[in-house]
Amino acid sequence: MQLVCYPYTLQLKNVFTLANSSRTVTPVILTEIHHGDFTGYGEASLPPYLGETQESVMKFLQRIDLSGFSSTTLIGEIMRYVDGIDVGNTAAKASVDIAIHDLAGKIKGKPCYELWGLNPEEAPATSFTIGIDSPEAVRKKAEEASAYSMIKVKLGKETDKMMIETIRSVTDKPICVDVNQGWTDKYFALDMLHWCKSQNVVFVEQPMPAEQCHDMAWLTAHSPIPTIADESFQRIGDLAAVKDVFSGINIKLMKCTGLNEAVKIIDRAKKMNLKIMLGCMTETSCAISAASQIASSADYIDLDGNLLITNDCFKGAKVQSGKVIPAALPGIGVIKCC
Ligand code: MG
Repeated sequence: MQLVCYPYTLQLKNVFTLANSSRTVTPVILTEIHHGDFTGYGEASLPPYLGETQESVMKFLQRIDLSGFSSTTLIGEIMRYVDGIDVGNTAAKASVDIAIHDLAGKIKGKPCYELWGLNPEEAPATSFTIGIDSPEAVRKKAEEASAYSMIKVKLGKETDKMMIETIRSVTDKPICVDVNQGWTDKYFALDMLHWCKSQNVVFVEQPMPAEQCHDMAWLTAHSPIPTIADESFQRIGDLAAVKDVFSGINIKLMKCTGLNEAVKIIDRAKKMNLKIMLGCMTETSCAISAASQIASSADYIDLDGNLLITNDCFKGAKVQSGKVIPAALPGIGVIKCC
């Protein structure tokens, strides 16, 4: 087996004016694993705040030698080797994991979801994200979200109530909220959660900073709606630390090194009675299609990263009746189109 990788840059559709974001691109690394006549595709998405860069990913991937592995049926063994090369580098590792799953499915002639015995039609509906913006822009985005049955709103600024009220002036669809660690006072946070509940908000993601663990446990114990760990949760080893602090976890392939570990996290988290959310970064349809393979194992789905870019170089999973449904093709179900 041979690993090939190259940089690519995602052009973003939306720049949120009130969030003061001047970011218009997200760097990624695309990977390919070749084996005989088959090619498996993978991707590492690298939003700047997570610390990995195109340079660090290329450097990490160049240390990988898959020539000693002859069969992709040994995915667990291959990922143990990749994980053992160095700490961190989770997106780089995910790019190998995704490509190896794609390759394994192609060799067996089956979609990954079928190999796990999962039915994509049983997945919950995905949310559609509306960023912090002016009331006019928020109203317009809420109207654009008509194909989706759940809206995700980014909060954590002084405009929080305006954001929700503006969306409520357009639609009564359920909303989920991502505060991105933005509320630092637990009493204020609890007042906000009660207000959110009155506005038909289904759950809240990472209301408080990751380091305020005790406040967060108190907030979850008193909260009228589920709390989901995002910045507080990366890999399977973090489960013990979040289990009595949040009601659930947001699993992202780029944080947890890919599908191999994500499947294990879901299994263990369910035994701990944690709710499962499956999220994403800004990504092409390659990583989104990979995540969509396990969507039916989750309680909440937030896989809209490929809808936020203008130069998606893969065709794959599509939104059908509000759900992200993978293509009925072997592997992760993608076709490269650039
Ligand atoms: Mg989040």
